[in-house]
Amino acid sequence: MYPHPDDQTRFSIFDLARAAVRTLGRDWAVKRGDWGVSATLFNESRTFLLWVDESGDLCLDYTRPSDELLPEVMPNGVAVYPGGMFFEAARATEGLFALSVRVASAVQAAVTGTSELMIEIPAPTSGDELGRAHAQCGPILIYPAGRPLICHSAEHDAPTVAERMVSYCGFTLPACGDHEAAAAEFAREWTT
Ligand SMILES: [Zn+2]
Repeated sequence: MYPHPDDQTRFSIFDLARAAVRTLGRDWAVKRGDWGVSATLFNESRTFLLWVDESGDLCLDYTRPSDELLPEVMPNGVAVYPGGMFFEAARATEGLFALSVRVASAVQAAVTGTSELMIEIPAPTSGDELGRAHAQCGPILIYPAGRPLICHSAEHDAPTVAERMVSYCGFTLPACGDHEAAAAEFAREWTT
């Protein structure tokens, strides 16, 4: 991973952190380090430093609260060391989006203990396209429903419009804003 944009990469560590923050959601923000070769990802309670060490590995340092356990499940290719984690064999040639999903998943794993992010995509036009999106982005995707559907949840007294679809590895459920996480959980249990 080379910190400076060049013909191969065309993005900096700051660009990568900014893309990861977009995936993590509105609570998160990013600050550029000196020269753009490091960046800080932060929310109200947590701070992560994205940087490249002297051997060229992409690293994510953070301070773990003393009562916080290491994540049980780390995203593929993420190794933990005291004070942070690094991305094994990460290369800029993977592309900005793929790398940003890896960074966001690692932050998510550290903060919540699960690496499964719900990633927003445009509505896929076919099952194949949805499959490719899962291969690139991970097991949980969310996208606009496209036509009026009813939320899958039985918690509603009356039928409620679902604005979006939640897909767990291709198993999809319509969900209103209150039941997107529940849809992912239900689909996961159903398919595993
Ligand atoms: Zn609902």
